[in-house]
Amino acid sequence: MEKIADKGRFGTFGGRYVPETLMPALEELDAAYEEVREDPVFHEELGEFLEKYVGRPTPLYHAARLSEDLGSLNIYLKREDLCHTGAHKINNTLAQVLLAKRLGKTRIIAETGAGQHGVATATAAALFGLECDVYMGEEDVDRQALNVFRMHLLGARVIPVTSGSCTLKDATNETLRDWTASVRTTHYIIGSVVGPNPFPRMIRDFQSIIGREARGQILEAEGRLPDACVACVGGGSNAIGLFHPFVDDAGVELIGVEAAGRGIETGEHGASLNAGRVGVLHGCQMHLLYDDDGQIIPAHSVSAGLDYPGVGPEHSYLKDSGRARYYAIGDTDALRGFKRLSLLEGIIPALESAHAIAFLGVLAEEVRQAGETKTVLVCLSGRGDKDVQQAEGLLRELSDEEAEG
Ligand SMILES: *Cc1c(COP(=O)(O)O)cnc(C)c1O
Repeated sequence: MEKIADKGRFGTFGGRYVPETLMPALEELDAAYEEVREDPVFHEELGEFLEKYVGRPTPLYHAARLSEDLGSLNIYLKREDLCHTGAHKINNTLAQVLLAKRLGKTRIIAETGAGQHGVATATAAALFGLECDVYMGEEDVDRQALNVFRMHLLGARVIPVTSGSCTLKDATNETLRDWTASVRTTHYIIGSVVGPNPFPRMIRDFQSIIGREARGQILEAEGRLPDACVACVGGGSNAIGLFHPFVDDAGVELIGVEAAGRGIETGEHGASLNAGRVGVLHGCQMHLLYDDDGQIIPAHSVSAGLDYPGVGPEHSYLKDSGRARYYAIGDTDALRGFKRLSLLEGIIPALESAHAIAFLGVLAEEVRQAGETKTVLVCLSGRGDKDVQQAEGLLRELSDEEAEG
């Protein structure tokens, strides 16, 4: 199914729209990745750390009470929330740090928005004793003081970025700039399936452990493949990690859930596949939020992890080819999903993952109207401990509004 003209493209999406000065770094990384992909020694070492340090394989959990509540769905949760550091991001950062070590690099750099990717990167760098610098928009440094402290604890330096809107996209620009000058000693760990080739393809492969494990686990539990796979989409790494091993199974529907934020019509959202246009940012062509002058429109979502104006080029391809579909869930519904999973299953999800949970209500209704029942595999990308304080305030506002309305 992977009809890719050359290995850095997904249909017309992806590519390497970077300054010439970055090309040697990308070529070097590409060659190194091609080598380790096939190298059993690398995979053995990675597998060992994934098992003993990250806690893999993560369980596939049958959510009986949620299934009963929704009626028409038989729901399984892939528990990435149980990974060390509380989300799927460590699957990628650990693998890339191992790769960097192999390349003889002594320093790691990364961009971060709310700090989740920064923490996952600092964690993996600490594990191998590598120097680690994390670029973070000044705005985010102020808002996410706790994650800044975590990164400091883990031995990383946090560099505040004061250009542009002082948020994630500006931090990404600065990290790319640093890399151009430092590539001899430094590896850049991108946090999702975005950026110039080979990042989207490589990070997809590293996150595909999610789908590979889940495939085996659901076959064991149900004796067959699921009818659908559902995951939230920010940059798209947990979603593509779940989807990839099912792409050739035509009977398995693939559904990504973006952030509709305050509503698509308000313009304050993160739904680049549902409401964006094709463009180029951070070295790759993808669906993107920008205005008529070509300026990036900042994304909005209640969940920081879905707050990116672009999306992985492979998702752009899966959407345009019709293999996957993408739905958008707003802030309020995501909060309801957050509450529902906590109440019914005793699992507090990350607000990002709560978008996928909330979408199950929509899917259940669709399936009921068709007079069917479906078995659904959902990626629970992370745990919600990081979000409880924010959710407390938001849920109070919501219940006040509902009492008035
Ligand atoms: C970062 C994050 C996401 C969004 O990133 P993707 O690359 O789209 O997976 C989703 N869930 C959690 C818990 C996150 O931390």
